[in-house]
Amino acid sequence: MKQRTLSIVKPDAVRAGNAGKIIAEIESHFRIVAMRKLQLSKAQAAAFYAVHAGKPFYNDLVEFMTSGPVVVMCLEGEDAIANYRKLMGATNPEKAEEGTLRKKYAESMSHNAVHGSDAPETAAVEVAFFFPGCDLI
Ligand code: GDP
Repeated sequence: MKQRTLSIVKPDAVRAGNAGKIIAEIESHFRIVAMRKLQLSKAQAAAFYAVHAGKPFYNDLVEFMTSGPVVVMCLEGEDAIANYRKLMGATNPEKAEEGTLRKKYAESMSHNAVHGSDAPETAAVEVAFFFPGCDLI
């Protein structure tokens, strides 16, 4: 089933100059429907990760996600949500499989290079968070 998902190249990967390599790899598997480079505000990052509010790592996560620019993409493909998460690898790069984006580019569990939606409901909310319908081409 064709699906759309949200991808973020996080500030650590952008800062390290890895955004282009990550986008090229993503583009070899998915159609990029929309793409923006932006600096998240504290309020935006807090709202985007609201599901994690109250967890011990939440404040650091918001701090990190606002520490520099990110590249946000809407991706499309067959089973894009699960397949993009497979390409990303495990949240903890030490547990990520060889060849995954996190194995190659993540520095740590908190600085882990990329984000991807985890379910159809969250994908729809996350894509709408960054892109108005008219930008999804
Ligand atoms: P993801 O879907 O693989 O990105 O993981 P989650 O949705 O569970 O968590 C969102 C982000 O919060 C992760 O990508 C990590 O950057 C961070 N995170 C999650 N769990 C932890 C944790 O236990 N410790 C730290 N430091 N960061 C975490």
